[in-house]
Amino acid sequence: MSVGIVWDERYAWHDAGRASNSPWAEPYPAFDRPESKRRLFALVEASGLMDHLVRIPARAASEAELGYFHTPDYIERIRALSEAGGGDAGEAAVFGPNGFDIARLAVGGCLEATSAVLSGRLDKAYALVRPCGHHAEPGRGRGFCLFGNTVIAIHHAQAVHGVKRIAVIDWDVHHGNGTQDAFYDSPDVLTISVHQDRYYPVDSGGSEEKGEGSGHGFNINVPLPPGSGHGAYVAAFERIVIPAIDQFAPELIIIACGFDAGMSDPLGRMLCYSETYREMTRQITALASKHCDGRVLICHEGGYSPTYVPFCGLAVLEELVAHRTAVDDPLAAWYARVGGQALQHHQETLIDAIAKGVQRSR
Ligand SMILES: [Zn+2]
Repeated sequence: MSVGIVWDERYAWHDAGRASNSPWAEPYPAFDRPESKRRLFALVEASGLMDHLVRIPARAASEAELGYFHTPDYIERIRALSEAGGGDAGEAAVFGPNGFDIARLAVGGCLEATSAVLSGRLDKAYALVRPCGHHAEPGRGRGFCLFGNTVIAIHHAQAVHGVKRIAVIDWDVHHGNGTQDAFYDSPDVLTISVHQDRYYPVDSGGSEEKGEGSGHGFNINVPLPPGSGHGAYVAAFERIVIPAIDQFAPELIIIACGFDAGMSDPLGRMLCYSETYREMTRQITALASKHCDGRVLICHEGGYSPTYVPFCGLAVLEELVAHRTAVDDPLAAWYARVGGQALQHHQETLIDAIAKGVQRSR
């Protein structure tokens, strides 16, 4: 099993601005800070897992590649703002000096990971990039996201590598609205998002959003109530996500991987912990072995706990390479036992209703 990882120190230099600009609050940095990702990469190195990984160098995506998804006006606006020292790409997507180049490097990191997997050089790859991308729209950035990393990676897979059927599972705690919109009318890209109900964006991500035209039935949303934990996520996977991808029989599976459904996250209100991410990764890699020669691409999205994201990320990477390091998640034994971690009745009722709706729309 050969698995690659993308990380570039410059990802840590993206400046997402302040948490708020209230005149009544001492300035404080935005939640999207470098530490969670940099410390994840540091743990990969310290644990020895890097000996089982291949480093994939990032590159800047070209404007033509950004243009797969974004309008020329938007690309030009971000470039001009970046040269002027930074600004807001749209809605809560602030960036600083060189933000354009760093965001292009995030897209390009995902593209290099895609090419490494689809050329057969590697079986799987984890693009640990920043800024994240799943909220970005063609003409504006949103929610810490400047460019649609995953969307552009999918276009790249299809246009350059000739892969047609791609399944995307987005388990970031926020709805993957940008990815959903990009392929809403496509039967070739199955987009699935498991997220906290109406959290961000508050007006998208409902289970009734199923795709349109020939894409109807190829978008699945699983909006879980706040407080959902390991039991709810595993049930959502076993009853909705896995059967849907299995039926779709993709040529490539992409995980839009945020860790903000983790217990310690300052934004998400969920209870997931490292074993939740390990189990979801295990189920996805098993499906990939069945349908697409084991090919899995992971694009890093959100996750804002600098102390806990590293352990969740290590669990995912250990599962990808099928090797356990000596590292124990110091919080797992506690988090596994907190109240509400098991599947709750109201969560099960909701998950089963969504599963029925998904079956009906096929
Ligand atoms: Zn998120």
